[in-house]
Amino acid sequence: MNAGEIVELTQYLKLKAALPEWLTERLNASSKPACEGKRRYGHQETAERAVSAMFKKYGGNRMESYHCKTCDGWHIGHSNAVSVIITRGKE
Ligand SMILES: [Zn+2]
Repeated sequence: MNAGEIVELTQYLKLKAALPEWLTERLNASSKPACEGKRRYGHQETAERAVSAMFKKYGGNRMESYHCKTCDGWHIGHSNAVSVIITRGKE
């Protein structure tokens, strides 16, 4: 990790801590695709289990489960919130 990356991470953590909950939710919402066509899980537990299974099978970046307000179910996906916040923090 070079100095630039550490600065970026520190900035991100500061930004994240300073973000009000509604903005975090909005960022998460805008970075996630609509749930159409996505696998829907009825419970967080089921979604988490699927996350673990996929992580074991494919490795790489761990997916995360999130509650969907559109269908009131749970989906799993990659979080883009980090890159969104870092990009916006540079503007
Ligand atoms: Zn949904």
